Amino acid sequence: MNGITTQLIHSIPTDPLTGAVSVPIYQTSTFVQDAPGINKGYDYSRTGNPTRAALENLIAVVEKGNSAAAFASGLAAIDAVIKLLETGDEILAVDDIYGGAFRLFTHVYQKFGIKVNYVDTTVTENVLNAITPKTKLIWIETPTNPTLKISDIEAIGKIAKASGCLLCVDNTFASPALQLPLTLGANIVVHSATKYLGGHSDLIAGLVITKEKELGDKIKFIQNASGAVLSSFDSWLVIRGIETLHLRVKQHCINAQAVAGFLQSHPAVNKVYYPGLPGHTNHDIAAKQANGFGGVVSFTLKDDTVDAANAFVTSTHLFKLAESLGGVKSLLCHPAQMTHKSIPAEIRKAAGVADSLIRLSVGLEDATDLIDDLSQSFAKIKAREERTKALV
Ligand SMILES: *Cc1c(COP(=O)(O)O)cnc(C)c1O
Repeated sequence: MNGITTQLIHSIPTDPLTGAVSVPIYQTSTFVQDAPGINKGYDYSRTGNPTRAALENLIAVVEKGNSAAAFASGLAAIDAVIKLLETGDEILAVDDIYGGAFRLFTHVYQKFGIKVNYVDTTVTENVLNAITPKTKLIWIETPTNPTLKISDIEAIGKIAKASGCLLCVDNTFASPALQLPLTLGANIVVHSATKYLGGHSDLIAGLVITKEKELGDKIKFIQNASGAVLSSFDSWLVIRGIETLHLRVKQHCINAQAVAGFLQSHPAVNKVYYPGLPGHTNHDIAAKQANGFGGVVSFTLKDDTVDAANAFVTSTHLFKLAESLGGVKSLLCHPAQMTHKSIPAEIRKAAGVADSLIRLSVGLEDATDLIDDLSQSFAKIKAREERTKALV
């Protein structure tokens, strides 16, 4: 069984009791014990639940880790990793970090004496230069949101190892269908399974996978102690999503590459961000560490204004205006007013999130229809521009 898809599909157990091919949803809070402390492996569903365990075993196989834990959201998963740290410890994090992680680090953990240093990790030397004796955790996303910045996992993993700190990779954007950080030197992978793993925009979930079982046991202790576990029904939905992950992600990549090419040739577009474009910074690293470039494409308009972006994102028909990504249906969002609204304008712009930046989550519709939709939206904003010009 060498093929990852075969291995994945057959890592989902059939039910030993009834032969059910689909993992049963064990919708129960507690489990009957034969005598105090004598049970069938489960005693209380916060501590462990068979449906959740099936998901945890599956994602550990898929990410090539030794332990995994499923949480009620991606942020709950991130929160569990930060709880490995102690007061006085420092985190070195990618500067273009997911907004929710920034909020958690800054507005929740700072007051407990955990400091975060943000650096541009796309240049590996920056990581080396920013490490202090107190750095216990390096936190990267690659590709990042929304400008798809690429960092070298293997090179940063070596620095982490030499410095005695852990490397955690938020692998949400690539998904394990494209990138396996634990095989490149990372100690921990986290996911917002809300995105590609769930894949259908119908749930909120998070996962932590560790290379070492011992570290995984610490995460499981925190999971049980803090209690933000994934429900059995949502665990079942994520399993169902993962079954078709590789197939879906392959098509997301094909569609995104086509859309990125179209945008690059459009006269109204200023800059296109997509790791699959040869001109994208660190394109070579993306090509080396991942076997595809993902389904998210961002771009800025020549008319770099909030008004122009607004006109664009309200003119598409197939691309629905919504936060989130990774589902079968195409979505678009305007980070300056949506996902990155809480970040001060100067910091936001310095991170490359321009006023007109638009992020696309390219879905599984026919690529030609998606391109037609973007095309007609460009035509609408051009007509609007001409009307405005005629008025002045
Ligand atoms: C969405 C997202 C998260 C947070 O996950 P939730 O499931 O929304 O809590 C974390 N990291 C990245 C990169 C994300 O895109």
